[in-house]
Amino acid sequence: MGRSSRIVVVGGGQAGGHALSSLRRGGFEGELFLVTAEDEAPYERPPLSKDYLAGRCERDRLRLYPDGFYVENAIELVTGTRAVAIDPGSRRVELESGRVLHYDQILLATGSRVRRLADMPGSRLDRVFYLRTIEDAERIRAAMKDADRIAVVGGGYIGLEVASIAVETGLPATVIETMPRLLTRVMTSKLSAFYADLHGRHGVDLRLGTAVTGFHGSGAVKSVALADGSKIAADLVVVGIGIEPITDLARAAGIDCDNGIVVDRACRTSCPDVLAAGDCSSRHSSFHGRRVRLESVANATAQGQIAASAMLGVEGGCDAVPWFWSDQHGVRLQMAGVSEGADRTVVRGTFGGDSFVAFHLCEGVLIGVDAVNSMREFSVCRRLVEKRRRPDPAALSDTSVPLKSLL
Ligand code: NAP
Repeated sequence: MGRSSRIVVVGGGQAGGHALSSLRRGGFEGELFLVTAEDEAPYERPPLSKDYLAGRCERDRLRLYPDGFYVENAIELVTGTRAVAIDPGSRRVELESGRVLHYDQILLATGSRVRRLADMPGSRLDRVFYLRTIEDAERIRAAMKDADRIAVVGGGYIGLEVASIAVETGLPATVIETMPRLLTRVMTSKLSAFYADLHGRHGVDLRLGTAVTGFHGSGAVKSVALADGSKIAADLVVVGIGIEPITDLARAAGIDCDNGIVVDRACRTSCPDVLAAGDCSSRHSSFHGRRVRLESVANATAQGQIAASAMLGVEGGCDAVPWFWSDQHGVRLQMAGVSEGADRTVVRGTFGGDSFVAFHLCEGVLIGVDAVNSMREFSVCRRLVEKRRRPDPAALSDTSVPLKSLL
């Protein structure tokens, strides 16, 4: 059993949600609260820009836990209210509703909010959307039904997945990205080119290296103006230009923040009895060789579990291999580790073909993997990166050599 008699988890995303079950599974018998600003119990966000947007998945299927979970596990679910202040001295957290909860330990799993476009003409017109919550996804899905053309601002994961679903449902799409290539932050330029080609082949109009300067329309958006002087007809706009960590509570309480709430391997912050996990936190990653703030479900899940263990007094640490996945035009991309810093890339299969894997090596050590339509191989790929193997490059590229034999 844990030493705390009351734990408050703030934030109902993947990190907060997973912390709850880990705490009970780990034997925590004290009082447990989850405070979340959304009206929903914790749910999965990845389908929001994929199957849920396409209408292929029911709302109930997004839930992290079945209906009875919170009652069975004696978790008080406080939805629709934000935590507005924590006082580490008296160990109290104040909610927007006016309620004050005492805690012995508190987990800040406050996640992130969408980055908004700078104020520009027309940015507040109707039918200009951002995508973060179930409600956002439902509003966009409804608007897609009667739209003639969608413009997506941002060539990141949100933008590309939304464009992919749009064209799949017969809605012509334009993607506008300020950088000269797609997914610059996470992809090699070769893989970006593969994705540009994939989107092009599916009819997505890509406008790279140009910025949006405004939106036109009366009441609702009708077109988007770009810095290169062009104008794109669009009666629906989705903006996906990144996220910002929510660190307000921590900052106001004097907790160290540096591109996120600074945490150690066990998710402890600079303040005793306050932990943080998920998108809102930044930690040292041995895979990057520096402090990073990872925006991924895999990281949020792992950190939620690690934070729970730490609250139970079990020593552990989070330095899991970062990994992501994305579905676009029926192509599944899975990435593990990093490609930044690689001095050699070895390809298994034909790059650009239906399925292939690109292995990134640095001084012989495997540091990252990009797997395209290679679901069966991916778990072994991830383990190879995790174990920081020094595989023979010839064996990596030889499809007759089982990857397992390189573990
Ligand atoms: P993102 O992946 O950070 O991509 C945003 C893109 O928009 C970046 O390429 C960014 O360039 C660009 N951009 C920034 N300002 C712009 C502007 N004014 N006009 C045009 N482009 C602009 O963020 P996201 O796609 O919004 O996704 C939000 C979060 O959800 C991220 O954490 C993402 O990882 C997560 N997500 C993940 C998945 C997945 O893993 N499959 C799917 C959906 C969402 P700069 O980098 O130069 O700013």
